[in-house]
Amino acid sequence: MTETNFNTKTVHFQTKEPARNASKAKPIYQTSAFVFTDLDDMESFYEGEKEYLYSRYSNPNTDDLGKGIALLEEAEDGVATSSGMSAILAGILAVAGQGDHVIASDDLYGGTYQLFAQELLNFGIEVSFISFENLDAVTSSIKEKTKLIYTESVTNPLLRVENLEEVMKIAKEHGIKTMIDNTFATPYLLQPCKLGVDLVVHSATKYIGGHSDVTAGVLVGTQELINVAKSKVITLGCNLSPFEAWLACRGLKTLSVRMERQSRNAQALADALSSHEGVARVYYPKFVSEKGNGAMVSIDLAEHVNVETFFRSLGWVKIAPTLAGVETTVSYPLRTSHRTIPETLRNELGIGKQLVRISVGIEDQKDIIKAFMKAIEKA
Ligand SMILES: *Cc1c(COP(=O)(O)O)cnc(C)c1O
Repeated sequence: MTETNFNTKTVHFQTKEPARNASKAKPIYQTSAFVFTDLDDMESFYEGEKEYLYSRYSNPNTDDLGKGIALLEEAEDGVATSSGMSAILAGILAVAGQGDHVIASDDLYGGTYQLFAQELLNFGIEVSFISFENLDAVTSSIKEKTKLIYTESVTNPLLRVENLEEVMKIAKEHGIKTMIDNTFATPYLLQPCKLGVDLVVHSATKYIGGHSDVTAGVLVGTQELINVAKSKVITLGCNLSPFEAWLACRGLKTLSVRMERQSRNAQALADALSSHEGVARVYYPKFVSEKGNGAMVSIDLAEHVNVETFFRSLGWVKIAPTLAGVETTVSYPLRTSHRTIPETLRNELGIGKQLVRISVGIEDQKDIIKAFMKAIEKA
């Protein structure tokens, strides 16, 4: 480099990739592309000997996230994407296209509902929204062009636990693929691929990241479907950035300890709230796993409790339109996640004006319970 001039030095000052000990923490491959020594070396990528060419195709950090979640879900392979939403889209497009039909639960995350009800039509994919509480209705809505059954393992915000064995039975009988959003349960509590589910999707923005500092998604499943999904991610350009993938991977390392503590805190909060006269109903799932039942608790405040005052009286518990961080937060589904759901469907589902969704964090159990008791008393 010494023989070059100033402008060249400015660009090429960095030392070569050193032959040093591997770093303990995974480096961030914050690069848009990878370099080659000569044309034969470049050819080796296309022959499958070299793994990386261009970061939109694949990158060591995004691979860590996709393959890491595949490992935990006991799936064959996985791909990381820019968000939970794009992971859902990539999964759908891996299975269905123009003229195909999808059966989806009518009890879905608001964004997913919007994607299915509005955008999939532009791809020529028709979606029927069915209440999965009556699985006979699912069977009777199957058409010749039905390619996929889609639902969430634990639903949002009413935390209904889907009977995945029964859903799988119907799908298998009719040769239809299945895709499950496992965001609320996480692979710590539930691994739908073990039941034969073809695709599992996560908003890694939630428990996988766990610190509310990253937006990311992951899709895992059979090799055949993930191969198709990967090509969709590449062409649609909904790949995840290396740094975001690195953050999600860092969060993932503590998934077990977070989920264990958060589930325990949530159970205690659900128990405490269910005996309070200011709470009309507590939604907290049972039997998600022998390890726990998750960290989300929803409640219907009693009619005499003023919702506005309740939200204003929570002290250190913040209002946030997300979930799954290490901090306890609350949200109001009616005006956030379920705002876009038609009112009649919302009423049918039971998402009313007294409904509060609580994402329970890792704080001290007694402090969490105290904060909610105080807010209900005040309201
Ligand atoms: C948040 C969420 C999504 C969407 O994920 P993003 O990362 O925000 O795109 C999908 N499904 C469920 C259940 C979610 O909670």
